[in-house]
Amino acid sequence: MISLADQLRLLPSADEVLRRPELKVMPGSGIRVQLVAWIRQAVDECRDKVRDGVVFTADELMKRVIGRVNELARLDAGRMSCSVINATGVVLHTNLGRAPLAERAVRRIEEAAGYVNVEMNLETGKRNARSERVVELLCLLTGAEDAVIVNNCAAATMMTLQVMAAGREVIVSRGQLVEIGGGYRLPEVFEVSGARLREVGTTNRTYLHDYEDAINDHTGGIIRVHRSNFSLSGFVTEPSSAELADLCRRRSVPLIDDLGSGCIQDLVEFGLVEPTVSASVSAGADVVLMSGDKLFGGPQAGIILGRRQWISAMRKSPLMRALRADKLILAALEATLEVHLSQNPMEELPLLQMLTRQSSRIRSSCERVVSLVRIPENINIGIEACESEVGGGSIPGSRLPSFAIRIAGTNPSEFSQKLRRCRPAVVGRIQDDGVLLDLRTVSDAQIPHLAEQLQSVFDGEAV
Ligand SMILES: *Cc1c(COP(=O)(O)O)cnc(C)c1O
Repeated sequence: MISLADQLRLLPSADEVLRRPELKVMPGSGIRVQLVAWIRQAVDECRDKVRDGVVFTADELMKRVIGRVNELARLDAGRMSCSVINATGVVLHTNLGRAPLAERAVRRIEEAAGYVNVEMNLETGKRNARSERVVELLCLLTGAEDAVIVNNCAAATMMTLQVMAAGREVIVSRGQLVEIGGGYRLPEVFEVSGARLREVGTTNRTYLHDYEDAINDHTGGIIRVHRSNFSLSGFVTEPSSAELADLCRRRSVPLIDDLGSGCIQDLVEFGLVEPTVSASVSAGADVVLMSGDKLFGGPQAGIILGRRQWISAMRKSPLMRALRADKLILAALEATLEVHLSQNPMEELPLLQMLTRQSSRIRSSCERVVSLVRIPENINIGIEACESEVGGGSIPGSRLPSFAIRIAGTNPSEFSQKLRRCRPAVVGRIQDDGVLLDLRTVSDAQIPHLAEQLQSVFDGEAV
């Protein structure tokens, strides 16, 4: 019997592994220190097995180590950021970066990547406030008096509660104490901000008098939170924004409206019912919070709109410096605002195009892709009606009629993985034992690339 010490001596060294041709270094990565770290990890894992009493030959050990390193390299390639063709039909897919930016915003990010006049007016050569122009455009677009930009809507909530209500109570309906996803829970944000949560009403019914009865000397505000990712129906009551605003005016209590989604255009004619930002501002909310990368269609940002007195208090807060947006975000926001303020934002904003795309047009896209590929005999491909969703904590429950390419006759999870390994990667969804590619979220410009990637996977699948 071979001793443990002899077994351990059979473990390969990093140099030996590095010389083996079976070691596949993924294109694009190829960072040597990373590779060496994976080899060490793989060898450590084998050592643990050997210590547990498993017996291997030197060849088996080498094979195991190389297999594991190749697996770690593939996992690394899978998380290395790269362009994705989103064929999930989820327009605001949080795992895929939410809103795709307008061309104009992409160009401005590129320009801002070098030196940029983020805090200088080039006309005077003097310093001007960061985001001054963004704020002005935001006010023109929404009717708000003033605005500040922070890192995301969660930061906006934190900033707002801290500045307006630290040490005081903020009244919230039990029907709106939400978890947004990614562990973002409103009660926890309250705790960190120093504001105290004062819950009123029940899960399904909160009346105006519930809010009114809870107002006292310690009240710092009332917050209304948009139910971003679920809807309540049935035996449900809550006061309208106008009623709440009226109560707040009468009792001199500030009203905070956490909209989240930040819908700018009225999308009712496209079957999407979502409160608009300007409606919330004009209904009388003192402060309105929204994300930059949901229905606004811009980069990740938290936009706080509101009355001058509150916004200037936020601007002076030490939190501002901690939460402020960087030059790339500001450049993209500015360009997205220009698009919203232009004659026809639908033409320039990919998000609006995707949300409003007619299903007949999506069907034509599917037909185009299918016409561009040679399909192996063992594979079945078809076009079928499906439903897309808005996603990303906006317009809960909304379903948009769409069309998808269905690929069957092959193992759907393996086929999906092969599509994800393409560059640009293709992400679809699996449904009823087939792979569905919903083309609502695929732009016309991406169609040839999608066809090319499909072809490469088909060619590998052909029998
Ligand atoms: C999405 C959302 C948030 C969080 O926004 P992020 O920009 O992702 O931080 C907060 N509140 C509401 C109501 C939301 O819908």
